[in-house]
Amino acid sequence: MNIQQNISLKQYNTFGIDVNAKEFVSVDTLEELQILCQAFNLNERKLLILGGGSNLLLTDHFNGMVIHVNLKGIQVMHENDEHVWIKSMAGEVWHKFVLWCVERNFAGLENLSLIPGYVGAAPMQNIGAYGVELKHTFDSLEAVEIATGEIKKFTNDECKFGYRESIFKHEAKGKYIIASVTFKLNKKPLFNTTYGAIQQTLEKMQVNELSIKAISDAVIAIRSSKLPDPKMLGNAGSFFKNPEIDVQQYEQLKANFPELVAYPAGKDKVKLAAGWLIEQCGWKGKVVGHTGSHKDQALVLVNYGNATGQEILDLAQQIQISVKEKFGVDIVPEVNVV
Ligand SMILES: Cc1cc2nc3c(=O)[nH]c(=O)nc-3n(C[C@H](O)[C@H](O)[C@H](O)COP(=O)(O)OP(=O)(O)OC[C@H]3O[C@@H](n4cnc5c(N)ncnc54)[C@H](O)[C@@H]3O)c2cc1C
Repeated sequence: MNIQQNISLKQYNTFGIDVNAKEFVSVDTLEELQILCQAFNLNERKLLILGGGSNLLLTDHFNGMVIHVNLKGIQVMHENDEHVWIKSMAGEVWHKFVLWCVERNFAGLENLSLIPGYVGAAPMQNIGAYGVELKHTFDSLEAVEIATGEIKKFTNDECKFGYRESIFKHEAKGKYIIASVTFKLNKKPLFNTTYGAIQQTLEKMQVNELSIKAISDAVIAIRSSKLPDPKMLGNAGSFFKNPEIDVQQYEQLKANFPELVAYPAGKDKVKLAAGWLIEQCGWKGKVVGHTGSHKDQALVLVNYGNATGQEILDLAQQIQISVKEKFGVDIVPEVNVV
């Protein structure tokens, strides 16, 4: 285990923000992770747990220890006629793990193809796309408790998953390092093609026989055409969550803005499309210094090359203010601001 000093984090975050970490350690095994927690009094240090850095906005140099979770390995734990339980270590790249499952015809994750980042970060915000969330196939995870180095298991219920939410953003925040995640996947797939442009794309691809591989390919094609590639243009995907409001507020807004884009979100709640709200405030495609809102995806804030994290945060705050002024709605970041 090599603890390095003053390491640039530029290549470790998809916004491409060039700040340094005072200490940086990449951990390759579960045992190393436990030793690190037990021997280095991590509980008393300022820590940043890092996966692929695709959901982070670094606003300054990090005056503490960055722990890059690099644990590898994918294993079939057990199976029956209908299901298979697969455990992935936290440092596996999410999309590679999804493809590993798709290749073996294990169904349930195909709609989540091409989401950047590592497996270990996926439960943090219950990643979701194209009508599917991680929680639908999540079985359990193992995490190392930072204070003791002990391994604790969390079941699906214990993770308290919600829309881009989990216990690890609330009462368990800063207390655990996720080491592995186990999924319960289906051997007999239930195809989910109703959301977004999947059906249309499958038709365009002239897919006659539906398969999880075909759905994965369609999702990859849609995402590649819609979202800016962080390798070309620094970004962290959707910067804000879609806000949920109550039906009464929705009715009032709808009367003033008949074009309002919204989806039902459980009892008496409606989810608004944050991208639409931002676009209506005139931000789509706007460049502010070295940053801006993407020309095709208003919800995606980008780094045009030399933006600082603070510049991007300032832009995000201006956007929040204008959405509040125009619609009376609070939009909150999905991205973790450090
Ligand atoms: C182009 C683009 C498209 C995206 N599309 C989507 C999408 O469709 N749906 C979606 O949900 N998200 C999307 N995202 C966001 C992002 O990919 C996910 O949130 C992803 O799960 C983040 O993984 P990561 O490894 O990069 O996490 P990081 O950015 O490294 O970390 C994110 C948070 O998790 C914590 N963390 C990371 N690893 C661990 C660990 N092992 N234990 C404890 N805490 C940890 C970090 O401290 C941080 O708070 C997109 C991002 C980009 C750049």
